[in-house]
Amino acid sequence: MRLYYHKTDGGAEYLCSNNVKRTDEGSFNSRYIVRIDGNIKEDAELFVNEEKPKKEYFCPKCHNKLTFDKDKVSEEYFGACLRCDEDFYKFEV
Ligand SMILES: [Zn+2]
Repeated sequence: MRLYYHKTDGGAEYLCSNNVKRTDEGSFNSRYIVRIDGNIKEDAELFVNEEKPKKEYFCPKCHNKLTFDKDKVSEEYFGACLRCDEDFYKFEV
């Protein structure tokens, strides 16, 4: 799995499994995030983001079930309809 580098404004450094679309910049909207700043021998930490909504949501256009797979949903969006190939914000569904 490729990891993408991201440095916050505060200087903390991370490797992320997703990139910001069309860039090589790491995104916090990732399933796997590894902290690499500080003392790499002591401070390295892996965050696994498996959080998914407990209830089901449906596409407002075709009523298909939405997916929350981070590989399929565009940056900043809540869920995606694979049938319509559209992403939605939470307030839209
Ligand atoms: Zn749809």
